[in-house]
Amino acid sequence: MILHYGRAILIACILLLHLPAAHSGQARPIPLANGAQGCLTLANLLGSIAVEDCAVVDFGIAGTGTVQHRPILIGDFPATRTPPVDKRPARVLLLGGVHGDEYSAVSIQFRWAERLARDSSRRYEWRMIPCLNPDGLLAGPATRTNANGVDLNRNFPTLEWATRALPYWTEQTGRDPRRYPGPSAASEPEVQWLVDEIERFDPDVIVSVHAPLGILDFDGPPPPPQQLGMLNLDRLGAYPGSLGNYAGRTLAIPVLTPELQYAGIMPTNQQIAGMWDDLIEWLDEHIGEQDRVLPPRPVLPDWNLLLAPPENLLLRP
Ligand SMILES: [Zn+2]
Repeated sequence: MILHYGRAILIACILLLHLPAAHSGQARPIPLANGAQGCLTLANLLGSIAVEDCAVVDFGIAGTGTVQHRPILIGDFPATRTPPVDKRPARVLLLGGVHGDEYSAVSIQFRWAERLARDSSRRYEWRMIPCLNPDGLLAGPATRTNANGVDLNRNFPTLEWATRALPYWTEQTGRDPRRYPGPSAASEPEVQWLVDEIERFDPDVIVSVHAPLGILDFDGPPPPPQQLGMLNLDRLGAYPGSLGNYAGRTLAIPVLTPELQYAGIMPTNQQIAGMWDDLIEWLDEHIGEQDRVLPPRPVLPDWNLLLAPPENLLLRP
């Protein structure tokens, strides 16, 4: 028992405690223009991300940053398999760290990045945002909310936000500060940016990782997977302002929300692989290639008219 307890503490420490700058006073915001440095900051904080992991992905950064002007990292893994001629590869958006205190949801992105980087025949276009809420993650101690104290997963502009979000917060959560939806829909820069990014990237599927409920939630159109690895499907319903509600129900983009079992302890390599294999199997079965939307055909001149010159041309000497 003591051994188990001690081991759990040890693992938690290995995972979490590098904690350099974040605990030595006020965290210094990172200059916005540097994805590599932003990645190293995560690697320095989280023991389950190695500095070498930052070499796997060439991270770019979002055009706008967080409340505290930290960069939001973006990594791309383009498809390398050629789709049928009238099809395009489906686009998959991988998202972690919507809640800053769910360390494992950030770290698992880097394990999946390794797999994507190794895969020489990628069927899909992958975009990875390992941490939407770096201010929360780096707050010391980490917070679920962003630097304005807003739960980003209650701030998305769902249809009923204006009438339901604040009453829900008051009546159902007892004004829990960890679940404050914000003063208005999409009031937060992190949410505004992701809403725009969803429009730009136009994903066919979103996978947004959380912890620690130990289940798989799902919103959106096609039949959901019954499990992702050790996580069994358990649909939680729609919260006002949640990403699943916004993208899954308002935009009709399927949203898989794996809730890992622990926020501070990583799943085993075997569990990570099991989740990934089930995700790929579901994508292959239900998403696959998408119809390529062809550009409108150009209006061509009437070749008969071009071949028969006008009368005045024929009459010219
Ligand atoms: Zn969460």
